[in-house]
Amino acid sequence: MGHPVITLHNKAFRPYLSADEIAAAIDQLASRLNADYAGRRPLFVVVLTGGFMFAADLLKRFTGDCEIVFIRVASYEGTGSTGKVQEIMGLREDVQGRDIILVEDIVDTGTTLHHLLPTLQANHPASIEIAAMFYKPDSLRYPLTLNYMAMEIPNDFVVGYGLDYDGLGRNLPDVYVAE
Ligand code: 5GP
Repeated sequence: MGHPVITLHNKAFRPYLSADEIAAAIDQLASRLNADYAGRRPLFVVVLTGGFMFAADLLKRFTGDCEIVFIRVASYEGTGSTGKVQEIMGLREDVQGRDIILVEDIVDTGTTLHHLLPTLQANHPASIEIAAMFYKPDSLRYPLTLNYMAMEIPNDFVVGYGLDYDGLGRNLPDVYVAE
């Protein structure tokens, strides 16, 4: 039978990935992080809102010492030649010398990370890696180093597992794709 097509704001979405498939991908990613970060006490920086569900499942599988903070990102146009300015809200931790793992729901065009990374780098962490649940390789527009992507997906609009369509769908344990 499987799951039926769902409707959010009158838009139809069909089942795309099950909670079990997602969990299996996170198991694999967590194993790699556990090996790579053994003894390093990373600071996980979770980008809200979409990253909340992935962060919870990933962090439950992280076995070493670690710290977790949640941030929000606000972007606005700069007045000069800098273009977009990224303001990070909620980062009270001192990131200097820390091993940062940024936790994102999805890397699509990469625009968010392209603007966020320099702001974090300016605070001189020891390292920054990006861990994302989903990654759309065909959509990426910036040269980002993406070592910890749980799953690659095609360039389609998905909802569920933290991701929303105009505010709805974040609570769904499975992932759906727009019809
Ligand atoms: P980027 O800056 O990499 O283009 O996209 C980052 C943000 O766009 C993600 O954190 C997410 O909030 C949103 N986004 C990108 N692709 C999707 C998608 O397929 N579905 C949903 N619901 N949001 C997406």
